[in-house]
Amino acid sequence: MSNPLPRHYGLFIDNEFVEPAGDDLLDVDNPATGEVWARVPDASAEDVDRAVRSARRAFSEGDWPGYRAADRAKLLIRIGEAVAEHAEELADLQVRENGKLHREMYGQAKLMPEYFNYYAGLAQQPLGHTNPLHLSDMINYTVREPLGVVAAITPWNSPLLLLAWKLGPALAAGCTVVAKPSEVTPVSTLRFAEIAAGCGLPPGVLNVVTGLGQPSGAALTGHPDVDKIAFTGSTATGQAIASVAGRTLKRVSLELGGKSPNIVFEDADLDSAVNGLVAGIFGASGQTCMAGSRILVQDGVYDRVVDELARRAEAIVVGDPTDAASQMGTIASRAQLEKVLHYIQVAKDDGARLAAGGEPATVPGLPNGLFVRPTVFADVTNDMKIAREEVFGPIASVLRFDSEDDAVRIANDTEFGLAAGVWTQNVQRAHRVSGRLRAGTVWINNYRKSGYSTPFGGYKQSGIGRENGPDALREYTEEKSVWVDTGQGVKDPFNPRA
Ligand code: NAD
Repeated sequence: MSNPLPRHYGLFIDNEFVEPAGDDLLDVDNPATGEVWARVPDASAEDVDRAVRSARRAFSEGDWPGYRAADRAKLLIRIGEAVAEHAEELADLQVRENGKLHREMYGQAKLMPEYFNYYAGLAQQPLGHTNPLHLSDMINYTVREPLGVVAAITPWNSPLLLLAWKLGPALAAGCTVVAKPSEVTPVSTLRFAEIAAGCGLPPGVLNVVTGLGQPSGAALTGHPDVDKIAFTGSTATGQAIASVAGRTLKRVSLELGGKSPNIVFEDADLDSAVNGLVAGIFGASGQTCMAGSRILVQDGVYDRVVDELARRAEAIVVGDPTDAASQMGTIASRAQLEKVLHYIQVAKDDGARLAAGGEPATVPGLPNGLFVRPTVFADVTNDMKIAREEVFGPIASVLRFDSEDDAVRIANDTEFGLAAGVWTQNVQRAHRVSGRLRAGTVWINNYRKSGYSTPFGGYKQSGIGRENGPDALREYTEEKSVWVDTGQGVKDPFNPRA
């Protein structure tokens, strides 16, 4: 049977699919088969302007500004319910876009309602204060008001979950949104928006523009009527966005890259630790910002851990992401596969010892699939490129350390600071080391956990701001201070204290 023709999608503006101003289209292919199965617009500045104007209109006119917090909360809950009903479909779309395991994408789709429920709860929490004053006959209170129009720019690795991290607090706060998904994974976001619109979102509250970083992403971040940019992606793009945002002082939250240390002490439960190392770097084919890509192992257990990690890497079942037996799917795009293979060569050239993998993987029946074998490099030193630069693929670099101080020094010797793991059965050491690590998340005797109720974000060049957790809404609000005279009014214009 021949493949059906690629489906053509439009932009999603004012709750409907619309044709772009120009003719530029982008192919969406399935990285497991190579098949082009959808085409989406490469939005121009004109298209982006149309979407931003729609979001601005919805922010200041129509029904949305009149929505009370309770109304926004109900809407978020309805969106969560609709996502749960469409979890299978949304998982399938994401797998066809990025080649990650169906199991993982389905798990994320099932989890998304929990995020929307959490933000529905936060929407109804008090955000303001009554502030004690140095003056009498005065009341001062603060309110937090929605920031305005938010540009939500997302990467390809977890397209919808990372959108939910932005959309949930943005809608809870009363903002409107223009989402720009990665060019690798645009369809799932378009379909999600269509589903959300069906839940009763007023037109313009959520618009989606598809396209490349240039022109579409840049047109959005440079647009004068965007108030905030909520971005997840690479550090290089984050830096570019921060400098553009600086020109008009847009608010930014940036969730960027990592080179996270996963540190194994001699006193660790080694079986559990090795499971955590495997999960940390081979889960999601290593295509996760929190990947434990620098594995630091103490002298006394170094050889044992390297051997076991290499054995486990060789045993991983790389295969069709839709097959429940597969443990690792594809790399998301050809460009990303080339990047991964490039770093394998760089690591070899720099003198790292290849202990497992190190080449593309062949999967029967999927000759065009973008598969790579889980790879372990041992005897890596922290000055090598493979220890310093983010690969975003299933490449583990194993480094040796002798003492606790040595481990902390190596772990912190990086421009990133997203996450870290500590494996030890010594409770004092666990907390001591955690306190010394410069990272936004530390996992003690576990790895790669995140949740709606706890903040996630980076130190150093891993980002600015936090997503999730009790303060998430603050990132989507402005604070206003209101002074009220409860006395006799202004008596002396030149003495404000009188
Ligand atoms: P990327 O930076 O290439 O692209 C991310 C998004 O930005 C895409 O939608 C892209 O089209 C857009 N973009 C690119 N250039 C732009 C520009 N000049 N202006 C505006 N938008 C632009 O990242 P990617 O390859 O899609 O994703 C992988 C990266 O994302 C990795 O570095 C990873 O660590 C990071 N990431 C971080 C987190 C986190 O929470 N910290 C989570 C997932 C992924």
